[in-house]
Amino acid sequence: MATEAADRKTDIGPPHYEQFLPPVIKENYGKWKYHERIKPGVMVHVGESGAKVFTVRAGSPRLMSIEYIRFYADLADKYCDGYLRFTSRNNVEFLMTKESNIDPLIADLKAEGFPVGGIGNAISNIVHTQGWVHCHSAATDASGIVKCVMDDLCGYFSGDAVPGKLRIALACCLNMCGAVHCSDIAILGVHRRPPRIQHKGLNKLCEIPNVIAACPTGAIRPTTIDDQPSLQVEEELCMFCANCYTVCPSMPLNDPLNDGLSIWVGGKVSNARTEPRFSKLAIPYLPNNPPRWPEVVQAVRKIVEVWVGNARKYERMGEMIDRIGWPKFFKLADIEFRKEHIDDYKYAGLTYKRSTQLRHG
Ligand code: SF4
Ligand code: SF4
Repeated sequence: MATEAADRKTDIGPPHYEQFLPPVIKENYGKWKYHERIKPGVMVHVGESGAKVFTVRAGSPRLMSIEYIRFYADLADKYCDGYLRFTSRNNVEFLMTKESNIDPLIADLKAEGFPVGGIGNAISNIVHTQGWVHCHSAATDASGIVKCVMDDLCGYFSGDAVPGKLRIALACCLNMCGAVHCSDIAILGVHRRPPRIQHKGLNKLCEIPNVIAACPTGAIRPTTIDDQPSLQVEEELCMFCANCYTVCPSMPLNDPLNDGLSIWVGGKVSNARTEPRFSKLAIPYLPNNPPRWPEVVQAVRKIVEVWVGNARKYERMGEMIDRIGWPKFFKLADIEFRKEHIDDYKYAGLTYKRSTQLRHG
């Protein structure tokens, strides 16, 4: 007997998010009147219909064990009819309709050591990349540094007054899987040496034309070594971006003695008041110093304190720097001006100051 073939599934992408929305959000979708922060880590959205949804935000470690995920899921079952979400900065948010569930939920989170906060004028959780846990091109670790920085800044997450929103990001190499290009403070792992080419077997592991095309500065040339096709790098053209290593495992850059970290400031994604903007270089190099990275923790704290002490209400880091000027910001944050601050990219001239209206604070 002939049986009908089942429909073949060819699209195995993520399911439509709508099916995971809490019913109150589905019913009021696009019809919210306003939202406000009730207390640190808690906000309410009020719909045109009068419906309310309460959100409790907690910090998460991002790299999560099964135990933590089960813990979150149990809390969501207990207080939120099973609904929770993760934000793009790895906070976990519990969404509920019963206001009376807020305090017991916060008590359960705190009893397990999870801070509640990060909403409104606060430092949110740090978005970060894979680091030594997973990625092959990391110039530094990700979750380890984030843990140390957030241990130090946790008060600003869960209640200490700050002027506005402050977003911190970490990426462990220039590929920037984290939002380092558009965060108020960005911690970025940097390589400082060109790739070391492993000629043996390179032509079998790597597509030579693709590797040449992958280099943004045109530093990679074809060559022949021991009668085998291979590659060479014009070192003075190399900016240590690791793009070649991403496509060719025979060109590693990782160097425990010379890799380190840089700090960037002033980026944002938000359209509020001013346009979104890229982060700019503040500190070109700090040593990679596990397990607690004291130099990075201290540098980030100093920059945060300069912002807390000098920003006007709601002012983001980049907006404050625009107002007081970069020279004054460098002075306040004890940052030395170095040759690395001068952009030498071939189109950098377009971004240079072209008038005499400089501000020296
Ligand atoms: Fe890997 Fe770089 Fe992404 Fe870090 S930023 S996870 S090293 S590709
Ligand atoms: Fe080119 Fe970047 Fe590789 Fe240097 S590290 S050779 S700049 S792709």
